[in-house]
Amino acid sequence: MALRFGKNLTLKKHYWKCLPYCECKLTETSNYLEIEHFHPKSYYPDKVIVWDNLLPACKRCNVNKANHDTKKEPIVHPIKDNPKSHLILRAYRFYNKTDLGQMTIEVIGLNNRERLVKKRFEIGVELIEQLEILLELTTEYDNGNSSSTRRRNRIIETLKNLMREGTRQYEFSATAATVILHEESHAKIKQLFIKNKLWDDELIDLETEVKFGAINE
Ligand SMILES: [Zn+2]
Repeated sequence: MALRFGKNLTLKKHYWKCLPYCECKLTETSNYLEIEHFHPKSYYPDKVIVWDNLLPACKRCNVNKANHDTKKEPIVHPIKDNPKSHLILRAYRFYNKTDLGQMTIEVIGLNNRERLVKKRFEIGVELIEQLEILLELTTEYDNGNSSSTRRRNRIIETLKNLMREGTRQYEFSATAATVILHEESHAKIKQLFIKNKLWDDELIDLETEVKFGAINE
């Protein structure tokens, strides 16, 4: 059972994502927002109005979780628990570090192939390609073959845009952040940026956010 909220409801904290579980965007019509009761109200009626028991989730995750008894068989609480302590992301699938992690994967269907693994894979492939292109452009800038202001601004903006994908307000940002942090090309780009004094305060802040959002340390 879920309450439905209009789109005008302000939920900035959750960035309009299915924060608790799959990270899909809630603004798309197919994923309209529902308010999920972490502890199902059928078992725990006293919890119905406790605010931290209410989380915006997508319809599919809400259905998957349905009346699963979260006290008998706990799953990761998206705000109180740190997902990194319970889950690891490998080849775009989640694996468990703890029993809590395993229960979450099963109850929510976090490795649903069509809906989630495929989407994470597409995002990862696209990011890796973009990072490769950016590494070429940055290398050309570094070796003086193309060192115009235009090129410099282009590589800085491109890197910032790519790193933004790994920050919380973006759909599937945990996947993007994990990919960015583990790609060799990103490490090389960073080195070249530092060498050329292009690694500015905004990039430092973005990196902090990406590290926060990544599933694997
Ligand atoms: Zn979801």
